[in-house]
Amino acid sequence: MGLLRLANGTVHDPANGVRGEIRDVWIDGGKVVAAPADPAAAVGRVVDCTGLVVMPGGVDMHAHIAGPKVNIARKLRPEDRRDHPPFHRTNLLRSGTLGSTPTTFATGYLYAGLGYTTVFDAAIPPLGARHAHEEFHDTPVIDKGFLVLVGNNHYALDQIGRGERDRLRAFLGWLLTASRGYGLKVVNPGGVEVWKQGHNGMAGLDDPVDGFNTTPRDIVREVARAADELRLPHAVHIHCNRLGMPGNWTTTLDTMRAVEGHRAHFTHIQFHSYGGGPDDQDTFRSRVPELADYVNTHPNLTVDVGQVLFGDTTSMTGDGPLGYYLHKVTGRKWFNGETECEAGCGIVPIEYKEKSVVNALQWAIGLEWYLLVTDPWRVAMSTDHPNGGSFLAYPEICALLMSRDYRRGVLKRLPQKVRERCSLADLDREYTLDEIAIVTRAGPARILGLTNKGHLGVGADADVTVYTPGADLKAMFELARYVFKAGELVVEQGEIRSVPFGPVLVTRPDFDRGVLPHVRDWFESAYSLAFENYPVGAEYATHGETEVRCGSAS
Ligand SMILES: [Zn+2]
Repeated sequence: MGLLRLANGTVHDPANGVRGEIRDVWIDGGKVVAAPADPAAAVGRVVDCTGLVVMPGGVDMHAHIAGPKVNIARKLRPEDRRDHPPFHRTNLLRSGTLGSTPTTFATGYLYAGLGYTTVFDAAIPPLGARHAHEEFHDTPVIDKGFLVLVGNNHYALDQIGRGERDRLRAFLGWLLTASRGYGLKVVNPGGVEVWKQGHNGMAGLDDPVDGFNTTPRDIVREVARAADELRLPHAVHIHCNRLGMPGNWTTTLDTMRAVEGHRAHFTHIQFHSYGGGPDDQDTFRSRVPELADYVNTHPNLTVDVGQVLFGDTTSMTGDGPLGYYLHKVTGRKWFNGETECEAGCGIVPIEYKEKSVVNALQWAIGLEWYLLVTDPWRVAMSTDHPNGGSFLAYPEICALLMSRDYRRGVLKRLPQKVRERCSLADLDREYTLDEIAIVTRAGPARILGLTNKGHLGVGADADVTVYTPGADLKAMFELARYVFKAGELVVEQGEIRSVPFGPVLVTRPDFDRGVLPHVRDWFESAYSLAFENYPVGAEYATHGETEVRCGSAS
C-alpha cells in the first residue's frame, strides 16, 4: 500500500493560504500527509485532478438530521415522502425516503454526494441523546455530532437565578460528557420555559422567567461565560428570542451585546434580522445592515445564515412557541412536544412563496448576510436544514453568491416591495471560489473548533471534495467529481462508491465532579428517571468517537 496522490488539481485550501494553486494532495491512512521525498516509490494510487477544483470536504455546522424532532417530522408528513421518489436498495445502498426530512441512510448518501463530510445536528435535548446516537449509527459516510439544548434546562436556569456560576459550569461540563455531545445550544432562552408555563413565549430579553429568578439576558450571558470557562472548542450557539417576529432585530442586537465580549455564535441569523412593527407584516423589512455592522466590528461573534429557499419544507425547532406561531400563521398541521425539565419542540410544514412579500424578503435578507459580513470566516452557509430549505439547496446558494446577474434575475421576479425594503439590489459583491470554500468548509470548521477539518494541511483528516468547474455554478456544486472520506473514495461523479461510517465528534471538558451529588439530588426530586440511568454509555458510539480537545480552538 503506497500513498494516495490527488494530482495536479486546482487546490482551494484557504485555512493554509492556498488560493487556487495547482498542486498535489497526498493522503495516507485517512490523513493528509506531506509530499514524500521520492514520489515515484511512494505512490500507490494516483487520481488525476488536472483541471478540477480541489477543496476540503464540506462542513455543515447547523442542520437537523437526527433525534426525536426529526423522526417525528418524518411521521408527521407522509405526503412529503409520497411526493419524492424513494431510494431503492442496491448491493451497496440501503433503501430510504427523501423529501424535506430524508431517512438516516439517505441523509448520509445525499450529504456525501454534495461533497459534505461533516454535519452537526444543532438541537438535541440531552434526554434525546440516546435517540440521536441511535440515528447517527444509521447515518453513513459523514462524521457527525450534536449540540445539546441548555437554554431552558431547569437545573441550569435554577443555578443562573441563584448566581451559582461554578455549579452551572460544572453541570454543563457534566451534561456534555453524559450526553456524548459537542457543544452548548440555547434556543429562545427562557422563552420556551415561559411558554411551557402557559404564557407568551415570545417575550423580550429582560422579561422574567417565572420560578427561576432569571431572564433570557442572564441565561445567554452565563452560558456564554461557561462555554468560555470550560474552554469548549465551540462557543455558545445562540438561537435568539423572538425568532421570526417583525421588529425582532433589536432583540438580536441586544443579545449580541448581552454576551459581554464572550465568544458567541448566532445561528440562522436571517430569521432574527427583521424590522417593522410587532405583528405588522406591512412594515416588515430588513435590518441586516445594522446587525452586520455590529458583527463586523465585534470579532467575538460569528453567524450562520439560515437561508430561505422557495418551495415546500418542514420547520422543526426546539422553540415550542415558534411552532405554535407558525401553525397559527399557516393554518397547517403541527406537532408540539415537551421534554421534561429540558426543552420544547414544534414542527409545522411550511412553504416559502416567491409571491409572498414576507417570504421573498426572508430570501433576500439571508443573501444580505452573506454579502454584508466582510470577513467570510465569520459567516457560515446554512439553510438551518430543513427549516429554511434542504441542505440540497447549498449549490443554489453558491450560485446566488458567485453571480450577481443570477441573483438579480431571481430578485426581478419577486414583489417590488422586496427591493424597497432591503439592500440586496444594491449589493455588487460576488463570492470567489476561495470565499465559497471558506463559508462551506474552512469557516464552519474553525467556528466549531475542529482543528482537523476544513483544511488540507499535513495532519488534517483526508476529507476532500473535487469539483468539475463550469459556467453552470449550481451544477458544479451539485455533482461532485470525487469525494474522499478519511482517504477513501466514497463518491465518483455523484455516484456512491463505498459506504464507510464516520465517527461521532464529542468533547469532554474538565469539570468539578463535586457538583454531582447536588445534581443527583435534583434528579431524584425532578426527573422521571434516575440519575444513574441518564448518561449515555460508550456502547452508543458504535462507529467510534473523535474527541475534540477543549482549549484547542484558536
Ligand atoms: Zn436549527
